[in-house]
Amino acid sequence: MEHKKHWYDYLWIWAIIYFVMGFFNILCAWLGMIDFILPLIFAIVGGNKWFCNNMCGRGQLFAILPKTFKCSRQKPAPGWMASKWFRYGFLAFFLTMFGNMVCQTWLVFSGASSLKQVVKLFWTFKVPWKWAYTVQSVPEWVTQYSYGFYSLMLTSTLIGLIVMVLYRPRTWCTFCPMGTMTQVICKVRNGKQI
Ligand code: SF4
Repeated sequence: MEHKKHWYDYLWIWAIIYFVMGFFNILCAWLGMIDFILPLIFAIVGGNKWFCNNMCGRGQLFAILPKTFKCSRQKPAPGWMASKWFRYGFLAFFLTMFGNMVCQTWLVFSGASSLKQVVKLFWTFKVPWKWAYTVQSVPEWVTQYSYGFYSLMLTSTLIGLIVMVLYRPRTWCTFCPMGTMTQVICKVRNGKQI
């Protein structure tokens, strides 16, 4: 029987729109905070991974692209990718980088540093992204956070696309920091050992 479609089955479209909007106006990157906060709310309040299973546009995109374009090798990922040390290690790394981004924002807020109109890919490569600085009436730290957050979103999506092509479509989900974080919250909340 055909699975009845819900509005949230189409959130993969939102995942694409998000990156397009950030290309033209970097402030739109703030909207990505929804994808950070919602999974945590579901995990803390509901004790479940409903967001991952139903509402994650990025996860949907990784599933839909290979179905449509046959662009995944469909090979099992190396075992270490799903191992605890890698998943928690990657989460720790991701949170450190998130903290670093918040610090950069603070430096701009305090006037110790100037606004950098670049998107940093893979936490390393600085890509000029000046054209997206279209609204200059907001405080510079707000824009700095946008650049940092967009970099994070773009980098994680690119990693997700790479592993989607190399291995199975949703390989990213095995070590996605949001997935790991919500899993830990659910386990703690439901009284199970991690
Ligand atoms: S694990 Fe990450 S990418 Fe996968 S569905 Fe959950 S939040 Fe989305």
